[in-house]
Amino acid sequence: MTGPETLSVTIVDGYVDEPAHFGVPPYISTYPRYAAGALVDAGVPRERITYHTIDGLRDEPDRWRDVDEADLLIYLGGMTVPGKYVGGTPAEPDEVRKLAWTASGTSLMGGPVKFGVGEENAGATETERQDLDFDFVAKGDVEAAVHDLVESGLEGFSNRMRDVDEVSRWAQEGAFIVEQHPNHPEYLIAELETSRGCAYRCSFCTEPLYGNPTFRPPPSVVGEVDALSDLGVKHFRIGRQADILAYGGDGEAPNPDALRSLYGGIREVAPDLETLHLDNMNPITIVEWPEKSREGIRIIAEHNTPGDTAAFGLESADPLVQEENNLNVTAEECFEAVRIVNEEAGWRPGGPRDPRPADRASAGEDAPTRLPKLLPGINLLHGLKGEREETYERNLEFLRRVYDEGYMLRRVNIRQVMSFDGTEMSETGAEIANDHKKLFKRYKQQVREEIDNPMLARVAPTGTVLPDVHLEYHQDGKTFGRQLGTYPLLVGIPGERELGKTTDVAVVDHGYRSVTGVPYPLDLNAASMDELTTVPGIGSSTAGDIVVNRPYESVADAEFGGEVDLEGFATARPLERAD
Ligand code: SF4
Repeated sequence: MTGPETLSVTIVDGYVDEPAHFGVPPYISTYPRYAAGALVDAGVPRERITYHTIDGLRDEPDRWRDVDEADLLIYLGGMTVPGKYVGGTPAEPDEVRKLAWTASGTSLMGGPVKFGVGEENAGATETERQDLDFDFVAKGDVEAAVHDLVESGLEGFSNRMRDVDEVSRWAQEGAFIVEQHPNHPEYLIAELETSRGCAYRCSFCTEPLYGNPTFRPPPSVVGEVDALSDLGVKHFRIGRQADILAYGGDGEAPNPDALRSLYGGIREVAPDLETLHLDNMNPITIVEWPEKSREGIRIIAEHNTPGDTAAFGLESADPLVQEENNLNVTAEECFEAVRIVNEEAGWRPGGPRDPRPADRASAGEDAPTRLPKLLPGINLLHGLKGEREETYERNLEFLRRVYDEGYMLRRVNIRQVMSFDGTEMSETGAEIANDHKKLFKRYKQQVREEIDNPMLARVAPTGTVLPDVHLEYHQDGKTFGRQLGTYPLLVGIPGERELGKTTDVAVVDHGYRSVTGVPYPLDLNAASMDELTTVPGIGSSTAGDIVVNRPYESVADAEFGGEVDLEGFATARPLERAD
C-alpha cells in the first residue's frame, strides 16, 4: 500500500476537444485542474504533483523523466470533434502508447479518450475504445477515478461519476496546477464548467452520454474563478456546457436569476479579468422561451467582454437530415434565434446601441470601434444520415438569408462527422462523409467566398480595434496572432514582429476567416511602408509621400487626398529627439 503523502504524480495533458469542452492551448480544460484537486483531496501534497502538456514533453525530452519516475501517471486527453489548432498539437495515439510504456509506476488514462480513439486525430473517421496499454482507463469521471485510486493505495477504483460537492472542492483545490502550464499567466484561458449532459439526443453527439443536464451552482463556479484569479488567470471561457441559457434551470428553460448570480459573481471576484466569453447556446431554447432568453442574453452581454460568440449547433438546414439525426432545431427556428441574439447583444461598447447610457456618453465620437458584445456562430456538420446534394444548397440558402437580412454571424464552422461507439452515428460511420468529399470541398469554398468574407467586413469593419492581439507566428513576411477568447479572429500584420508579445490592432482588410490589421494607433511618424500600404486607399506612392513628408504634428497635418479616413485609428506621435 502506497500512502498518498509520499506519492509522486505526473499529469500529462494530451488536450481535449469535445462538443462542449475545449482544452487545446491557449485553453486549459477542467480535467487537469480537477484531477489535481482530487489528488490533493486524497492527501497527495501539491509539491509532489507535476503537470506537463504533450507539447511540453515534445519540446523538452528531459521531461519524460517525470513520466518514467512518477508513482502514478495520469494521462488526460481525447478529441471527439476534429480540428486544426494553432496553439498546440494534440497527442497522437502512438504518443499516448509511448507514455504508457515509459511509465514505471501505475498508469491511468481518462477524459473523453474513453469514448474512443481513431488511428489519427481527423474528421470523417471511425473510432473505437482502446486502452492504449494503460493499466487503468477511467470509464466514469477521471477525477473520481484519480481520487479513489489514490485512496485505495493504487489498487483500483469503481467507474463512478463525481458529485457536485466533490467538483466544487476539487476545482478550487486543483486551481494551482495552472501555474505549471507553459502559457501561464498571460496567454492562458481557463475553460469553466457550468453543467454537463444534455436534454436532447442528437445522433452524432457524445454529450448525452453524460445523461440529462446537471448544473454546478453559482458559488461552485464563482469560487473556482476566485481561486484561478488569485493565481493570475485573467481569461475565462464558460464553455463546458451544452447550453448556457439553460443554466440553473429545469434542464431546458432559461433561469435568468441563475445567470445573473453566475456572471455577477464572477465579475465580483475577478474585477480585473480581461476575457469573459462563453460557448454553446442552444437556439431552440431561444425560440421556445423568447422572453426569458432575451433577458438571459442581455445579462450575458452586460457582463461579458466584446467578441463573445454563442455557437449555435444548427448542424443542418435540411429537414430530412434533421429528422434522421434527431436534430432539434429547424433552419427557420435558428434564423429566429440569430435575430434575437443580434437584437439583444449585437451592440458595440460605447456605440449607439450600447444600452448603458453612461458608457455611451463617455465614449464620445472618437471611441474606437470594438467587436460586438455577443454574436451567434453557426455550426454545420456534414456526413450525417440522410445527407444529399440538396443539403448543401439548403445550408447555403440559410446563410445567404442571414446575410441578406442584415444580421451578423461571428463565424460559420463547417465540419465533417466523426462517429463514436455509443452514439447513433456509429452505425452509419464515416461512409457518407467520404462519399461527399468533392461536394463538401466545393461548398466550403462557396461559404468562404459568399458568406464569410462579407460577413467579416460587417462584424469587424475597417477601423475596428482588437486590443491585446498575441503574436503567434510568421508567414510570408507577416506576423499572425489572435486575441484570447472564444473563436478569436486570426489577424495578419505586415512585417515580422517579435513573437510572444501583444499589440493592439486596427482592422484594415478582410479575408475569408482572417483580417489584416495595422498596429493601433498607427503612428504616421513611424509606420513602415508595408503597414501604410495595407491601409485601404493608400497606394505605394501615397505611402511614399507620407514617409517623405514626416514628421507630422497631427493626423490632420498629413494630406492623403482621396478617400482615406485615418482619423479613427492613426496618430502622430512626437519624434524622440536624439539629444
Ligand atoms: S443539443 Fe444535440 S449537439 Fe447539442 S449538446 Fe445536446 S445532443 Fe449534443
